[in-house]
Amino acid sequence: MILNRIYMVSAVRATILLFLALLASLILAGSAAAKPLVEDARLGLHPDKTRFVLELSERPQYRIFTLVSPYRLVIDLPELDWPDRQETTPQAKGLVSALRYGLFTPGTSRVVLDLSRPAEVSEILTLPPRDGRHHRLVVDMAEIEPAVFRKRVQRKVHRSDDALRQASLAMPSPPRKPAQDQRPTIVVDAGHGGVDPGAIGVSGTREKDLVLTYARALQDRLKASGAYNVVMTRDDDRFIPLRGRVDIAEKHNGDLFISLHANTNPSSRVKGASVYTLSENASDAEAAALAAKENRSDVIAGVDLSSENPDVSQILISLARRDAMNSSKSFANVTVEELGKRVDLLRNTHRFAGFAVLKSASVPSVLFEIGYMSHPAEEQQLQSAAHRKKLIEGLVQAIERHFDVQQAYNRN
Ligand SMILES: [Zn+2]
Repeated sequence: MILNRIYMVSAVRATILLFLALLASLILAGSAAAKPLVEDARLGLHPDKTRFVLELSERPQYRIFTLVSPYRLVIDLPELDWPDRQETTPQAKGLVSALRYGLFTPGTSRVVLDLSRPAEVSEILTLPPRDGRHHRLVVDMAEIEPAVFRKRVQRKVHRSDDALRQASLAMPSPPRKPAQDQRPTIVVDAGHGGVDPGAIGVSGTREKDLVLTYARALQDRLKASGAYNVVMTRDDDRFIPLRGRVDIAEKHNGDLFISLHANTNPSSRVKGASVYTLSENASDAEAAALAAKENRSDVIAGVDLSSENPDVSQILISLARRDAMNSSKSFANVTVEELGKRVDLLRNTHRFAGFAVLKSASVPSVLFEIGYMSHPAEEQQLQSAAHRKKLIEGLVQAIERHFDVQQAYNRN
């Protein structure tokens, strides 16, 4: 990497430089290894194809595949340094109706291209630096018939020779909590992350960033109380599939799972916090629409769902699930009471719908929408430390009351 940029004038000098480069790479490996840098990304429209070009500081390794329902093209790359600049985010063009990028799993960055029509990869090129350009990954897409897509294209994976390892969705196994630790385990889930930004507020606030600050604040406040074990599903800007979040809660034998989100509404007047629990039948059309939106997280991140998702009715059959459901509802009600003392609430604050992230059969789970980023004043308020503190305090009081009730119940 360093050597490429330096003209070697003599063998001696080359040796010294090589030694320095090795030293530098050792130091880098010891801290955070330098990630390939995205220098440019663009979409081009040609008569017979749509071309996606990524310019990188290093020769790209890749894994490229397509997904159906909806049609998407997914490009997995090693973890990239992708600056958040306008010129490195191409506008939709041709077959590509939208584009996202971000961390998918540790070590893997992902680009997801939403396709307006079924398409196949007609050509992939990796080009060395030339004419002032960096390493380039060029992916050409051409439209095809839906039937052809289903038969031939779906599940075909294109890889570079030095292909990435199959990105594993498996989480590292959780540290066991010591057997003598009787404290309740609270699983705090910051919604979205990485390649899935979540909803975007009126002034550009990203749901994934906002809810992470709330998740961290909740974690800090709970840990400071000394009364709880706290597990975070994520503590950085990474993507976790919805089922993966449920798995983390179950592996840690969570006593309560709280998924934090921030909402948007076409009307800029709608505001207030709200709480959701799982139900096969949604309490109202808005809750159903919200669940559909939140459940799109996996689609947005290019997760193949064709072998997943038992429906809600199956999950509700189990008795354990019914226990967890009752506990979820009772926690949601206490939360509404405690939050109502401190912040504005959405009318009918506790609602129900088929949220995929609430489908644990054993861990009581609620999804909490902290407010509306589509309401300009509330979007500002949600960013303030004072408001965050009020809201977190409401949640913590609700958690305390919830476990007081549980303990009284267990004693009787
Ligand atoms: Zn969300």
